[in-house]
Amino acid sequence: MNLLYTDKENAYREELRAFLNQELAPIAAHIEETDEVPFDFMRKLGAKGYMGILHSKKYGGNELGLIYDHIVSEEICYHSAAVDIIRAQSTLYFASPISRWGTEKQKTEILPGIIRAEKFGSIAITEPRGGSDAAYMTTRADTEGDGFVLNGEKTWITNAGFADFLCVFAITDTDAHPHQGMTAFLVRTNNPGFKILRKIETMGVRGGSHCHIQFENCVIPGDDVIGEVNRGWEVLTDELASERVDIASRGLGCARRAFEEAVRYTAHREQFRKKIREFEGVSFKIADMKVALEAMRLLIIRAARQFDEGQPTENEAAIAKLFASEASFRIADDAMQVHGAYGYSKDAEVEKIFRDTRVYGFGGGTSEIMRYLIQREVYKEFDLL
Ligand SMILES: Cc1cc2nc3c(=O)[nH]c(=O)nc-3n(C[C@H](O)[C@H](O)[C@H](O)COP(=O)(O)OP(=O)(O)OC[C@H]3O[C@@H](n4cnc5c(N)ncnc54)[C@H](O)[C@@H]3O)c2cc1C
Repeated sequence: MNLLYTDKENAYREELRAFLNQELAPIAAHIEETDEVPFDFMRKLGAKGYMGILHSKKYGGNELGLIYDHIVSEEICYHSAAVDIIRAQSTLYFASPISRWGTEKQKTEILPGIIRAEKFGSIAITEPRGGSDAAYMTTRADTEGDGFVLNGEKTWITNAGFADFLCVFAITDTDAHPHQGMTAFLVRTNNPGFKILRKIETMGVRGGSHCHIQFENCVIPGDDVIGEVNRGWEVLTDELASERVDIASRGLGCARRAFEEAVRYTAHREQFRKKIREFEGVSFKIADMKVALEAMRLLIIRAARQFDEGQPTENEAAIAKLFASEASFRIADDAMQVHGAYGYSKDAEVEKIFRDTRVYGFGGGTSEIMRYLIQREVYKEFDLL
């Protein structure tokens, strides 16, 4: 083991890298150009076990833990941020609530297909009026017979354009505070009450599918509650810690690629009859990128290992996500800057990375919300809240 990763983790990364160089690198530009979901590649990821990292062996998973998810996320994003948002949304953000809170029947039905990437899932929290204030949701599920009837709209739902299943959060007790009156539901997208209103065109992560969706008198059997009725807030907050570590790792993968592109370009490009790396205005940017990459990695590893040990990780996940999302965009911006005009062209990898990394300050909670959570812990620590 070196200081950061065990020998087993390093070997896992090496094997994954070889697989991605062979299978993903050649199709990454095509995904970006066409904005299409690479289903064949996703199935290969599933067949190799990269969709089952956190799930029990009983359902086809490999029980490796969040530190391995971090490795997978980083390595995939080195090539394609879109592919990893599809992977993580299905196997982590959607399927973790099933794995950690679902019934035996739900796990047996859902997890094997998700792990093999034959089926896909989505998590649906955000609404047109409720983003950062996730508790302020208006989607409602009213009791009817043994089940529920779901009505409302969700937006920005990644994978929703092709997903088979959704994990949807809705208010079930309007008299209670949403923290005690929200429930998580499993919704099948072949339910006649489910409708895709539109696909949202985005600046980056092309190949991901983010949709505005609607539930209209969508009938849900009682068996499809995830966890307990009115305990949805616990399911939601439990899922967010691992999601934030995963997003931080995605930022790291994109930023590492931008950094490498910048190092190579500045070592060859000449101006004033010198390699541009010989100008401190250029090479000091490379130094700052290197420091930020290392800091990101350390924060992510701490949060992932803490999660894998079963300790509370909300604060560490927020710190890792805030730092990594801002640092990854800064690195992408600096990498573009040292490429000059070429970096602004579609011919340059850094152009895509610049657009892709901008998203990490929104998804999974904005940077402002991360700062809010972090300062709250600080005042709690000082007993001043
Ligand atoms: C590519 C992409 C994919 C996504 N995928 C999903 C998904 O699969 N499922 C899902 O449920 N959601 C998804 N989201 C939504 C994402 O979680 C929300 O964008 C995020 O929670 C922020 O909500 P909002 O965009 O409505 O911003 P708002 O909450 O409207 O915030 C607007 C601005 O106000 C600031 N702000 C708000 N409240 C405060 C405060 N208290 N203090 C300081 N500043 C504040 C915010 O930081 C932000 O800068 C996705 C988003 C993107 C961009």
